[in-house]
Amino acid sequence: MDVYNFSAGPSVLPNEVKQQITKDIISYQNSGMSILEISHRSSLYTDMLAKVQADLRDLMKISDEYAVLFLPGGATLQFTNLALNLATKFNHVAYLNSGHWAQKAIDAAKKVPGLQVDVIDSTNEYLPDINQNWSPQLDYVHLTTNNTIEGTTYHQIPELNEPLVADMSSNILAQPYDVNQFDLIYAGAQKNMGIAGLAIVIVKKERLKDMTNLSDVMNFWLEEKKNSEPNTPPVFSIYVAGLVFDWLKKQGGVAGIYQQNKAQAKMLYDYIDQSNLFGNQVKQAERSLTNIVFSTGNSELDKEFIAEAADEQLISLAGHRLVGGMRASLYNAMPTSGVEKLLSVMQKFEQNHKGDHYVRN
Ligand SMILES: *Cc1c(COP(=O)(O)O)cnc(C)c1O
Repeated sequence: MDVYNFSAGPSVLPNEVKQQITKDIISYQNSGMSILEISHRSSLYTDMLAKVQADLRDLMKISDEYAVLFLPGGATLQFTNLALNLATKFNHVAYLNSGHWAQKAIDAAKKVPGLQVDVIDSTNEYLPDINQNWSPQLDYVHLTTNNTIEGTTYHQIPELNEPLVADMSSNILAQPYDVNQFDLIYAGAQKNMGIAGLAIVIVKKERLKDMTNLSDVMNFWLEEKKNSEPNTPPVFSIYVAGLVFDWLKKQGGVAGIYQQNKAQAKMLYDYIDQSNLFGNQVKQAERSLTNIVFSTGNSELDKEFIAEAADEQLISLAGHRLVGGMRASLYNAMPTSGVEKLLSVMQKFEQNHKGDHYVRN
């Protein structure tokens, strides 16, 4: 029986990608060496990196005005790095506090000595509005495009006079965004671009400045100059990202997968909205395509559902421990058959619990 992995990250990989990895683990491109062994100074690696970079530029329509960096330390290290590398002119930045990960980015920025951090919280049950009366002279405004834990998304990004920085960790390549609207975009790879150990930073070259007081691996200017290898790069994670990009191109790129993601999310939201047992409290316009949260409103019943789903090989459906309930992460590699299976298990569960009703918390 097929296992469907609904984890929020590390997350499902396409089967094709996993099959290719098993071959390249033994011998990469007939070199007789494993992909795990090749030198980052060899043309095997430099050719691969050039292709991975070009494919990402192609998929996201990234112009030559931007550098594309492949960095260690995940999205979390970039919380700090981006503040250290970009907040150099005014020492003043602003953050939209849209949820747990946004809060983490804020906490990291607040640790940077001498940096003034404005925080915009939500004033109602919606996400904080990107259109604000921003203070003058900000180094950037930071937002989290998709809130992985809360299941909310900024689908539209308005034009701002302030430079925008975005954490796209959980919906990069899942739906189209215009890179030109941002000075910097970053994302951990393990949600929609492969496996952990790698973060991708797309940054306007004109924002780069040699930060000589920082470690080489934190200095974006130097990373660009040294083509993301001031030290040994995470070769395997970059390689897997490359396979994922190849696979995504075959799905019609971001435009193609966006159609699939919308269709899959609609199947699930439509069912939840007419269900008597399951509910989702996110406003329609802000509902995430990649992380769909739902619950029965009864934590015991939620646990029962998660266990029954696991018996049916639907794995990692528990919501984040901070919010409880359920979360189905439908990243790009989730096949539609996985969503269909989930729906059938939800329907069966609802039928077996006719006396129970969704209770809004
Ligand atoms: C997962 C996640 C992170 C953290 O990523 P790491 O690579 O584990 O550091 C940051 N931001 C968002 C939106 C996430 O979903």
